[in-house]
Amino acid sequence: MNLYGLLASRFPAEGEAPCLILPDGRRLSYAELESQSARYGALLVEAGLKPGDRVAAQVEKSAEALLLYLGCLRAGCVFLPLNPAYTRGEVVYFLNDAKPGLFVCAPERLEEAQELAWACRLPLVHDLGARGEGSLAAAAAQMPARFATVERADGDLASIVYTSGTTGRSKGAMLTHRNLAANARVLHRYWGFRPGDVLLHMLPTFHVHGLFVATHCALLNGSPVLFEPKFDAARALRLMRAATVFMGVPTYYVRLLQEKGLTREAVAHMRLFISGSAPLLPETFAEFRERTGHTLLERYGMTEGGMFTSNPLEGERRIGTVGFPLPGTEVRVVDDLDKPRPAGEIGHIQVRGQNSSSVFAGYWQLPDKTKEEFTPDGFFRTGDMGRFDAEGYLAIVGRNKDLIITGGLNVYPKEIEEAIDALPGVAESAVIGLPHPDFGEAVTAVVVRRQGGEGVSAEDIIAELKGRIAGFKVPKAVHFVDDLPRNAMGKVQKNLLRQRFAG
Ligand code: AMP
Repeated sequence: MNLYGLLASRFPAEGEAPCLILPDGRRLSYAELESQSARYGALLVEAGLKPGDRVAAQVEKSAEALLLYLGCLRAGCVFLPLNPAYTRGEVVYFLNDAKPGLFVCAPERLEEAQELAWACRLPLVHDLGARGEGSLAAAAAQMPARFATVERADGDLASIVYTSGTTGRSKGAMLTHRNLAANARVLHRYWGFRPGDVLLHMLPTFHVHGLFVATHCALLNGSPVLFEPKFDAARALRLMRAATVFMGVPTYYVRLLQEKGLTREAVAHMRLFISGSAPLLPETFAEFRERTGHTLLERYGMTEGGMFTSNPLEGERRIGTVGFPLPGTEVRVVDDLDKPRPAGEIGHIQVRGQNSSSVFAGYWQLPDKTKEEFTPDGFFRTGDMGRFDAEGYLAIVGRNKDLIITGGLNVYPKEIEEAIDALPGVAESAVIGLPHPDFGEAVTAVVVRRQGGEGVSAEDIIAELKGRIAGFKVPKAVHFVDDLPRNAMGKVQKNLLRQRFAG
């Protein structure tokens, strides 16, 4: 079973039905999605890529980038999406780890990509721009418009998605055709996709939320997708007059609420608003309901397996919770010894996919790490803390992994700390997430200066980091202290730092 085969089996019989509706007025029908993705599949085969070979893409969101993803699926290649904000140093890590047979970069970074390909011994580089320009689409255009999608077995990989960062928890989560297909099917049904639905797609496509959750639901439904390059609150409001479903991270909802135009009337055409990838504040939930009459549907999941729980479409969408385990996924809350805890009590959230359906296949080339993250009875340790209530709604109450989520994007503090510690004048640092009205959490650095480093300022540190790590990871603020608070084991007490610097 090939995931593309599943999606294509639901494409509208009427081939001219619109699939992607682009901001420049271009439209791609479902028939064109089929023929164009065929060209990309054929291009990969002609370039010598075999099923199982990786294709890394660090490109802006575009119709062509989506066609590349679908072409990869069709050729049995493994798609490796990379955030365009990653710097050279970050990209090297992923390329060396995944050894892709093709690396697709943005046109303005072609020279850098060619150097990297040489250094990392990659056979082939193409470029692809936000408007489809560059060598990749040009080469695909020369290919035949028919391609026999290759068969895949359940355990075959469809994608590797790296958890953000190059140290700490940065690992390639291996997602199989079966994982993605199972999650797509469940979400499509659970969220009641129906004829007439139109998806407003403003999420990035280098992350599971935009690439898999949103896109697969729409394609499985044969729906038109208003495929926008990025989130823009004012434009979202205009487009919602023609859409029915919107998926966003909490930051999008916070920004929509800042628009005067967000009224009941403006969203009268909408059927469903879904939120996830980061905690939704109860205030946002309540204010959105008051302004629009719509109750946000909050769901919970992660790169390692897509969506695990969701609030229901019908019935109460409970504030402060992420709803019920999705069909086919078991979710439990356990103590430190992996023993289930009763409803009402907080513990570690663990998940298991029935017939290994939704939960991922492990971390790329890290069998030991994979083993550590699973319990002996096959539950994945999510690193999130939560509690079930008496009716079975799950609430996320925190994380026991050192992770910051800012604007829906993950930042692993260890990576930032290492970058700061390497700067002259710095003795050590701790990076924490502090509540932020727009981003949810703001990356914040607490720094101890080295003797003689008195001249180092917050501006110096921020300026230095900007060239080294992706912009969303750069601290919004830097505080200086004489010492970092530590517990008896010598571990930095980040909770104390969070208390001290919050607000
Ligand atoms: P990612 O792998 O980038 O999707 O990030 C997954 C992490 O995001 C999870 O482990 C949670 O910590 C967090 N997350 C996702 N959805 C929610 C949610 N609805 N509420 C709170 N945290 C969430």
